[in-house]
Amino acid sequence: METEVVIAGAGPVGMALSIALSNVGISNVVVERGVGVHPLPRAAVIDAELHQSFIANGLGAQLAPLLTPLRAADYVDAEGKHLTGGDLSGIRMFGGLPVASLHFQPEIDALFLAELQERGGRFMPNTPFTGVEQDDDGVRLLVDGGNAICGRWLVGCDGASSTIRRSVGIAREDLGFEQDWLVVDVRLHDRVGSGLPDVVRQVCDPVRPTTMVSGHRDVYRWEFQLQPGEDPKEMNQHEHVWRLLNPWINPSNADIIRSASYRFHGLVATTFRAGNVFLAGDSAHQMPPFMGQGLNSGWRDAFNLSWKLHWVREGLADDRLLDTYGAERIHHSRVTVERSIEAGQLIDQFAGRVSHGVRPGKGYGGATPRPRYEEGIVVGDHPRVGTVFDEWHLIAGDARAMTHMAVVGTGGQTPALPSRGKWRAVELSPKETLGADHVVVRPDGFIAAICDAASIDAVLGDLCQRLCC
Ligand SMILES: Cc1cc2nc3c(=O)[nH]c(=O)nc-3n(C[C@H](O)[C@H](O)[C@H](O)COP(=O)(O)OP(=O)(O)OC[C@H]3O[C@@H](n4cnc5c(N)ncnc54)[C@H](O)[C@@H]3O)c2cc1C
Repeated sequence: METEVVIAGAGPVGMALSIALSNVGISNVVVERGVGVHPLPRAAVIDAELHQSFIANGLGAQLAPLLTPLRAADYVDAEGKHLTGGDLSGIRMFGGLPVASLHFQPEIDALFLAELQERGGRFMPNTPFTGVEQDDDGVRLLVDGGNAICGRWLVGCDGASSTIRRSVGIAREDLGFEQDWLVVDVRLHDRVGSGLPDVVRQVCDPVRPTTMVSGHRDVYRWEFQLQPGEDPKEMNQHEHVWRLLNPWINPSNADIIRSASYRFHGLVATTFRAGNVFLAGDSAHQMPPFMGQGLNSGWRDAFNLSWKLHWVREGLADDRLLDTYGAERIHHSRVTVERSIEAGQLIDQFAGRVSHGVRPGKGYGGATPRPRYEEGIVVGDHPRVGTVFDEWHLIAGDARAMTHMAVVGTGGQTPALPSRGKWRAVELSPKETLGADHVVVRPDGFIAAICDAASIDAVLGDLCQRLCC
């Protein structure tokens, strides 16, 4: 049988997509040029929403030992004086998850590789691809040596310099951020004895803006903003790296896992779809890491797309449902990139280097509302529509959770569920439904609608139209 979805790239986004697709019964192959997963860390944080997504996809128990709750996130001046942000340890989401958790990415990647194969995804290592072709019969991923891997759909999860994005000619919007940073991961010999804080910290030092990230177990990260005239290659030499680390650690109490210079960008693809080819992850968007959202945004892409592919594949919706993937994800990613840029600009601003006019609340601990889906599978203008349902964990344990729209009620009369598509009725208390009679929750945990009993029939009708079912 032909594979339904060809996933180009076995980074954390491609592998998560494979797991999500296998969970909803869609056959997939993950094509990767490397022999296995990337051995070095890049992303370091998973937020509560994506943590809950993986729990909903049956990975909660496997992930738990790989995560350390993030205790605090702040901005300080060069002398360590507090500027904004603070303690996160008392905040819990989705029935007990920390706001964010730290991980060592190679461990997450190894778990995903094992799970994707366990769940039926096919992994093809050592297979560099060069482009994609498509026609009415489907897609063909062209691989080195002249062969092709065929499928109905293809998702380019092949990272920032995406071959797939270039092959289908998708442009990117540049949101105007470009800085070189040196990123250094170390393994501490004695984590507790090191006295280093458990924190994600922006040190707003006018001479050298610096990020500190207390990692999972004995891993710790520093990121140093490179200054005009500093050559990234030269600064990555051993002696310079240790000179930069010297205020905190030295070779007698830590080993360097890796150091690398990165140019941080703010880029979003102008469309996430060309025919039956989609983009997800860094191929679709890139952002500076100050909010820890790069990978989380890629995972959000994967969970947005997987249930929609399931609906179309099952004949529950027509192909236009897949257009809502980009309509939702482009706006959401764009806002996330903008916020990540502002969080970076704030470091320079607090350091007194340059004023961008960014409000301090744009750093950690501000009350900025979550980005929301404003079009796509959403109805009404309630401010929580298009954001993730806080009580998602209460309805995510059901076997139908990843495929069905959930119509949550509070014990009154159950509305007639639409005959087309996949729907289920769930009961919660009024406190859990934000005081409304009904909350409609999508398989990816996002709220599609919030309404009273009098309007639920009209809302479900409107949603059916948007779902193209
Ligand atoms: C310093 C730093 C810190 C970061 N911190 C965070 C953080 O805390 N939180 C967060 O959410 N994000 C963070 N990010 C971002 C995060 O690392 C990326 O968003 C994430 O790795 C993207 O995953 P991906 O699967 O889309 O792409 P990638 O991880 O780049 O994977 C792409 C895969 O495709 C394969 N591939 C590419 N081209 C081909 C080809 N032609 N043929 C075959 N295979 C191919 C590659 O080998 C690779 O395995 C950080 C990034 C950096 C640089």
